[in-house]
Amino acid sequence: MAEVVLATHNQGKLREFQSLLKPAPFSIIPYPSEQEIIEETGSTYLDNARLKAHFVAKSMNMPALADDSGVEVDALDGQPGIHSARFVSPVPWENSREILLRLSEVPPEKRTARMRAVLVMAWPDGRDVWAEGVLEGWILGWPRGRNGFGVDPIFTVDGERSLAELPAEEKNRMSHRTRATEALLQILMKH
Ligand code: IMP
Repeated sequence: MAEVVLATHNQGKLREFQSLLKPAPFSIIPYPSEQEIIEETGSTYLDNARLKAHFVAKSMNMPALADDSGVEVDALDGQPGIHSARFVSPVPWENSREILLRLSEVPPEKRTARMRAVLVMAWPDGRDVWAEGVLEGWILGWPRGRNGFGVDPIFTVDGERSLAELPAEEKNRMSHRTRATEALLQILMKH
């Protein structure tokens, strides 16, 4: 089976992709932790995912898969968006706390938000394909749950349970990353 390297050092993403890509006609291998990944200097999710995928495909001389993702909060004019991983800090919980603080006066029905993921598969010869997935939801008033990563404890799709309270399989049935992965697999099947 062909191998594709996943261009991330995020263990949460690695776990999710290994599960999501079980039906894929290739297997995912992790990117060595001692190898650097290029800085995300693009101005869109697609720019950043492309930067990472092409950089890793060239440095490993094999196909690479990268995603760039973020959470867009309507009451914050779409922030933190592409800056989600480093909004006010590299520490995920500090970024979630900042979102909660900035929304402290915003009532539940106006706390709409979405998570977005853009996936790029790149080859060492410079070709690539990409796909996007979105998950609509709300920001809770307080963090809940211990599963997942990033903003999962403050993001809800049913207005009650956070994504961090759901078993991984339940999040993976609907997540933005799942939708982007399914769309990408469809494109790859046509190639
Ligand atoms: P990236 O590593 O540059 O793609 O940034 C991802 C950031 O977006 C994370 O640090 C989280 O803040 C947020 N994020 C994206 N996808 C998810 C998810 O599935 N769960 C929780 N947070 C997510």
